[in-house]
Amino acid sequence: MDDLELAVKLVNTVYALADPPDRLTDVAFYRDELVRLDAAALAVQLTPSDLQPLRVLRERLRGVFHARTDAEAAPLVNSLVREANAVPQLLPDARGVLTLDWGSDRYGYSALAARLPGALMTFVTEKGVGRLGICAAAPCECVFVDRTRPGNRRFCCEACNDRAAAAAYRGRRRAG
Ligand SMILES: [Zn+2]
Repeated sequence: MDDLELAVKLVNTVYALADPPDRLTDVAFYRDELVRLDAAALAVQLTPSDLQPLRVLRERLRGVFHARTDAEAAPLVNSLVREANAVPQLLPDARGVLTLDWGSDRYGYSALAARLPGALMTFVTEKGVGRLGICAAAPCECVFVDRTRPGNRRFCCEACNDRAAAAAYRGRRRAG
């Protein structure tokens, strides 16, 4: 599983087009997301008392996606990693390539608090915040990681892409 994707899913538990938009009013919603992302072990470790800290973590992670420059993002990520006492360890992946492991030995919320900011730290070091985006299809404000080669991704999902395209088409028809 990709910890960066777990961070994206946590931030996107707020979805402007859902009713109600904030779906993290109970840990169950994020638990289901974790299961879908192959993190079932983490999902079962979350308890109702993790809800408040998870919501705080969500807003602080959102701040990183909204940072306009690397310099603005750095202190946000640093403080999250520091406060979680996250200590990265070198771990060979399946191909024997060393990767940074941010807390696969930790449990439940504590694991998320270390791993999600850690994944952001690893990513931002390599790619910069220019590759972290916010959906351009208002009112959606979901975040995403831009893994496209040219770095021109604008929408969080296919549905928002289609919605924006339909709105642009209607706009052109009105204009024409
Ligand atoms: Zn969107």
